[in-house]
Amino acid sequence: MKTTTRSESLFSEARGLFPGGVNSPARAFRSVGGTPLFFQSGHGPYLIDADGNEYIDFVLSWGPLLRGHAHPEVVEALRTQASRGTSFGAPSEREIELARIIMRLMPGIESLRFVNSGTEATMSAIRVARAYTKRDKILKFQGNYHGHGDFFLVQAGSGVATLGLPDSPGVPAPVTADTLVVPYNDVGAVREVIQRYGNELAAVILEPVCGNMGVVPAEEGFLRAVRDLTRENGTVLIFDEVMTGFRVASGGAREVFGIEPDLVTLGKVIGGGLPVGAYGGAREIMELVAPEGPVYQAGTLSGNPLAMAAGIATLGTLLDTRTWDALESGIRDLVDGLRLAAHETGIPVRIQRVGTMWTVFFTDQPVKDWEGARRADTDRFAAWFHGMLQEGIYMPPSQFEAAFYSSVHSEVETEKTLAAARNVFRRL
Ligand SMILES: *Cc1c(COP(=O)(O)O)cnc(C)c1O
Repeated sequence: MKTTTRSESLFSEARGLFPGGVNSPARAFRSVGGTPLFFQSGHGPYLIDADGNEYIDFVLSWGPLLRGHAHPEVVEALRTQASRGTSFGAPSEREIELARIIMRLMPGIESLRFVNSGTEATMSAIRVARAYTKRDKILKFQGNYHGHGDFFLVQAGSGVATLGLPDSPGVPAPVTADTLVVPYNDVGAVREVIQRYGNELAAVILEPVCGNMGVVPAEEGFLRAVRDLTRENGTVLIFDEVMTGFRVASGGAREVFGIEPDLVTLGKVIGGGLPVGAYGGAREIMELVAPEGPVYQAGTLSGNPLAMAAGIATLGTLLDTRTWDALESGIRDLVDGLRLAAHETGIPVRIQRVGTMWTVFFTDQPVKDWEGARRADTDRFAAWFHGMLQEGIYMPPSQFEAAFYSSVHSEVETEKTLAAARNVFRRL
């Protein structure tokens, strides 16, 4: 058994300081039980906890760390920028640099605004979509998470689901009254909403590959139909690519499916481990944002030079197509190996993967929506999670979260992970 006494004592101290001892609920291990680990450092694909134990990290800060921990080029970019100042509250050239990289990878984005988190990006995108259409209602999908903005906290996937909160108290009913929710991958349900509320429907927002109920890809016909229906209806289609952007392909979901939304929201990878978000898309819509237009949205630290520097050093590597090819073949080998290991032990799992996002679902059925995800055996997942942790493998602490992969994970980590998985599957 690994010794984790220091994490345990830090956690008990933290419980006196923070609600539940954490500063974001998914970190608290509530759905798998046990005490969350405190980490003191990370290097490459590895994390070191407060007791000095080493883990191969497949959480990667929930997605942002495409180049692993403390990548020398990211650290150097941060050091250089820090010595020149950490915030100007005024424009700086780095914003242009990062925006250009994003727009080269996602050519559909004509105009962009940087914010400080994915939550801010989605809230702002909805605001501008409502202003553009002069309509109020929005449609989201069960199990899709778009940050913690009040009007999104309806059937919102992992964090909320894991805690068993149907909706969050503190959100007044009128705030969610304009939020419609239907099952993911259900074209018929979208069609019905549009028939019934079409002339009130400002936006449809979705994760084009859902990562927040575990990885559940949209079916191609579904996205195509939603695109056609929203276009005919004059409704703004928003792809929430905060997680999928630069994770499912170097150009995000648009590249995977060949479908162009009107607006895109970004976060996670574009900050390379620092706090950033962005929203952007058609110029005609983005022109409404202040100061060009009347839709107010602002941020003291938006476009922060440190965050831009980390984003440039992280995202810039994807401009070289070999980076993505290496990522894709590395994660494919890992997932193929895990499937084989599970198969050999007779444990029923479905490993769902798109690009560098993946989930080991403990079920024998493909998962295509929230109902399907909920059929997974969460007790078995918890046993697998703790088994892997003991073997030095850090997986997301919930059945309903995506795992990730980075450019610094190699065959060495794949071999270690497969050896661990064979042991753990055998004991389940
Ligand atoms: C993480 C996430 C968000 C929220 O981003 P934060 O930076 O945590 O506010 C929004 N949408 C999706 C799809 C996400 O995965």
